[in-house]
Order: sequence, then C-alpha cells, then structure tokens
Amino acid sequence: MPTHHDRICGAVLASALGDAFGAPYEGGVLEQLLWRILGRQQGKRRWTDDTQMSVDVIESLLACKRVDQDDLAQRFAQSYRWSRGYGPGAAKLLKRIRQGEPWQVAHRAIYANGSFGNGGAMRAAPLGLFYGAAQREQLVQAVQAATRITHAHPVGLDGAVLIAVSVALVSQGASAPEIFKQVRLSLETVDMLNRLAVAKQLLLPTLSPAPPQLVARELGNGIRAKDSCVTALYIGLALREAPFSGLLSYTRAVGGDTDTIGAMAGAIWGAACGYRQLPEKLLQELEQRQYLERLARRFAEAVVQMDGQGSGPSSEGI
Ligand SMILES: [Mg+2]
Repeated sequence: MPTHHDRICGAVLASALGDAFGAPYEGGVLEQLLWRILGRQQGKRRWTDDTQMSVDVIESLLACKRVDQDDLAQRFAQSYRWSRGYGPGAAKLLKRIRQGEPWQVAHRAIYANGSFGNGGAMRAAPLGLFYGAAQREQLVQAVQAATRITHAHPVGLDGAVLIAVSVALVSQGASAPEIFKQVRLSLETVDMLNRLAVAKQLLLPTLSPAPPQLVARELGNGIRAKDSCVTALYIGLALREAPFSGLLSYTRAVGGDTDTIGAMAGAIWGAACGYRQLPEKLLQELEQRQYLERLARRFAEAVVQMDGQGSGPSSEGI
C-alpha cells in the first residue's frame, strides 16, 4: 500500500501528466495544430492552465496554511500566460485582476451568474489533499471559497467539490461505494447529482471500465463542469487498477476536454496508486519535472506533518 506521502506526490504528478499528455488531443483541428507548435518546451511535454493553477493552489496553501482568497487570486493572475491554453473567460478575468480590479468585481463582470466551466474543478485536487483529514463540511467550505474566485456558478462550485472530496477519500483508501456516497452528500445541484447517479450505475456492478464512447455520451466530455467532472471521477475509479498509460489512452478515447479530464482523473489515479507507480518514461518527458516533484514533496511533507500533529488546516477564516 502506498504511504500517504506517496499518494499526495502521486496525485500532484499524475495530474500534471494527465494534463500534459491529454493536451495534444483537446478540442478541434485548429487547437490541436496550435498545440503542436506550443506543446513542446525544450523537447518536453508542456502542461497547461490546469497544472499551472494547481501549482498556484499548492503554493498558496503552503504559504497561508489555509484558503486565502486574495492570495489565490493574485497568484492566479500573476502566473497567467496565454500560451498555457486558458479559456477566453478565464483570460479576461485574470487580466482584470492583474490590473488591480478586485476579484469579487471581476468575476461577476465576465459571467453575471458565475462560470459553470470546469476551471475550478481542474485545480481542486490539492484542496482535497490538504483538507483530507478535516470534517467534510470544512473541506467543502474551503473548496467553494477557492473556486468562487473564478467559478461562482453553483455547478462550477459543485464540480470542484466533487473532485476535491473524491481525491481526499481516495487518498485515504476509501472504497468506490463510499466515495459515491460521500460525494453525493457533498453536492448541491441536480445537474451534478444526476450525472453522479449514472456514473454509479455504470461503475459499481463491475468496477471495470465501460466503452469510452459510452462514457462520453452518458457522462459528457465537454468544458462545462457537469460534462467533465463526473467523467473524470469515473475514469479515475474505473482505471485505478490499470497502469497509468491505460488511463491516458482511455482519456484520449473519451475525447473532448482531454487535458482537464486527464488532469482530474490523473489526480484520482495518483491518490490511489501513489507516485512510485508512475512510469519513469512519462515523467522524463514532463516539462519542469524537478520543480513539480520538489513542490509535491514539500506539499506532502506539510500535509503529513499537519495531520500527524492533529492540528489540521486553520479554521480561522477558511
Ligand atoms: Mg488546460
């Protein structure tokens, strides 16, 4: 069984691999052509906004020991680079924050009801790892606060909660039925609950993966949170006994938003199997591998130490 430390490092690195290896297959012909040009950095596979924003979340949690919305918003805005494939809404929002507009104003200026995309969910795995030992209510509250900066729509929030709660439970060795139960209790929107019920029906009888085309049709493969977060949970759970390369090829076959689905499913797989199960060959191809590994180790040490002391994340503020 992997140690807790190994599971945390596994979730961070597997998410980055899922992102970097999924990115060349995302979107239509034009996007794929563009990524052929942008997608290599000194011969390595470049990761996208999913990994950048997850890195921002980890750095912020390490610095603040809790979710600090203003700190997070600044980090998101400062590390924004168009070439990492941010969506157009996120790009506008982050540029406004960088120019000094408060995030509370900027995010409503772009989407009046808040974004229901999967951009909050794609960076939620570190929150599940950090708040894994906390009460579920505290985890949900922290995830909602971290997500609201850019994705304030209830479905956008639910997507992030779904990924964080799943990663937290998987990193503690929970069974698939237990994960479905706890996730269901954490969600608030009918859209997401309906998708979750379908995923449970698909997965629990056999615990083996259904045809990817069926998963794409029934659970979705798009950029909306309701079309990708349950899909990623399904892939992560159904493929967690398979080698990591199997998860990558399955995600490609599901298609659509392959980098984000790969990042979220990868985090679940990594939290289950640990860093040591990741193939060295793929890690060698990953851009800034050493930096990501160092960050993952620092993060894992901080979480393990916090849990060992029984101190937990600060509940002051969030
Ligand atoms: Mg991306």
